[in-house]
Amino acid sequence: MAATERAALFTETACDTNNAKSAKARKAGCPKPQPGGTSGGCTFDGAMITLVPIADSAHIVHGPIACAGNSWDGRGSLSSGPTLFRHGFTTDMTESDVVLGGEQRLFDTICEVVERYAPPAVFVYSTCVTAMIGDDLGAVCAAAAEQTGVPVIPVDAPGFVGNKNLGNKIAGQTLLDHVIGTVEPGDVTDLDVNLIGEYNIAGELWDVVPLLTRLGIRVRSCISGDARYRDIAAAHRAKATMVVCSRALLGLARGLEERYGIPWFEGSFYGVSAMGDTLRGFARLLDDDELSRRTEELIAVEEAAVEAAIAPYRARLTGRKAVLYTGGVKSWSIVSALQDLGIEVVGSGITKSSDGDIDKIRELLGDAKMISEGSPRELLRVAEETGADILVAGGRNQYTALKGRLPFLDINQERHIPYAGYTGMVEFARRLDMAIASPVWEQVRRPAPWDLVGAH
Ligand code: SF4
Repeated sequence: MAATERAALFTETACDTNNAKSAKARKAGCPKPQPGGTSGGCTFDGAMITLVPIADSAHIVHGPIACAGNSWDGRGSLSSGPTLFRHGFTTDMTESDVVLGGEQRLFDTICEVVERYAPPAVFVYSTCVTAMIGDDLGAVCAAAAEQTGVPVIPVDAPGFVGNKNLGNKIAGQTLLDHVIGTVEPGDVTDLDVNLIGEYNIAGELWDVVPLLTRLGIRVRSCISGDARYRDIAAAHRAKATMVVCSRALLGLARGLEERYGIPWFEGSFYGVSAMGDTLRGFARLLDDDELSRRTEELIAVEEAAVEAAIAPYRARLTGRKAVLYTGGVKSWSIVSALQDLGIEVVGSGITKSSDGDIDKIRELLGDAKMISEGSPRELLRVAEETGADILVAGGRNQYTALKGRLPFLDINQERHIPYAGYTGMVEFARRLDMAIASPVWEQVRRPAPWDLVGAH
């Protein structure tokens, strides 16, 4: 990807945050990567996160073994069928490849993978080392595609060009430029939709798709949880797109609209009210009165069922206080789910949130603390100051919470419990209740017996 194309990804016209800026600020684009900016995941990592869940494809990392090792299986994206995406293929570059070039090694690797595993497509990821020595990824992929007869897609997102977010954007652009529109499906319906930014973490997608199926809506392609290559290649025939909690992939939704006239909206699968809004969003874009009627009926039935199921939890959770520390759009979509349960969110992380996300959090939370620095000390300080009953955050904060003797719930992509849709909401309530009500907190907060010696 040329530097000018990469620069264009920093001025996303579909992004509210970008549009709210002055003309001068807009021209300057999104914040450029700063030194150290890849510590939360490099561009290569971001591209892998977006594309690797395409389950039937082979994903080859062209670079030193550590790049593949560091990023392998970092998320709990599940597949209902093929498992090839969980194979960690890499060219495992050595010093002599750096001196002599790694193109032949990459070509041979692609051919071997196709011969042994017969995937419908191969994605090839550049890394810092192979980009710096000047391997021509595009040329090798084109030659390998010709040799094998299988699409070989170059993902030119070396780590040093920026952060994880940029990697997500490059991956979206790669799908637009190399994959979408290359397969013509023979079974198009008027209610086909795309999901963008849904990774089927812990199988969440499987709690949502049945609801859409009951409405007669078919997920043509999901980018990229539990995805198949040919479905994504046929995404241009969908009639509507939903962007699921992912600002970084707005450019892909906009590209689908500009190139193929597919309207899109942003939604969330977390929380009762958010789920209703999402289903109505599909009905609105698909512009079908009968579908709108079915949607209202389904929402009424599901909301009644979920209200009855969460009532006992809500009775115990109402009035509890939570500190939420998660990234980006999730910070406000999870706020809505917590509020549906009567929990007061007294602090929310904003480190990875865009200005638009922060505005939304403020609108939802009023005077809650905005946490811009997520060190363990700061999280525990905010929890103590606000009298929080629980920390809802990513897995790496678990030990912070435990050291602070504070109940904890893992909300990030590494988790193994699905929280999306109406059934996910019941599970979310159950897990929150279990975490807060555990008898262990009362025990660990008691003074240790040896501290009491001499106190009498
Ligand atoms: S691509 Fe570069 S920054 Fe990313 S893991 Fe590999 S060497 Fe590190």
